Amino acid sequence: MNIIATGVLCEVNTCKNWTDGNKCSADVIYVVNFDGKQTSEAEETGCKTFEPSRS
Ligand code: SF4
Repeated sequence: MNIIATGVLCEVNTCKNWTDGNKCSADVIYVVNFDGKQTSEAEETGCKTFEPSRS
């Protein structure tokens, strides 16, 4: 059974997909490992869907 996230909370309010209440308005987000390494800590992940709100 596939389980798909129905909501994403995010504190990155400099992203154009960020909305009030720390919600992400993107249909899909892509979370990646930093530097292509196998991640073992939450701090080593990042959202590749990020786009600056003032681009
Ligand atoms: S696209 Fe990524 S960085 Fe931007 S609001 Fe959504 S989760 Fe946050």
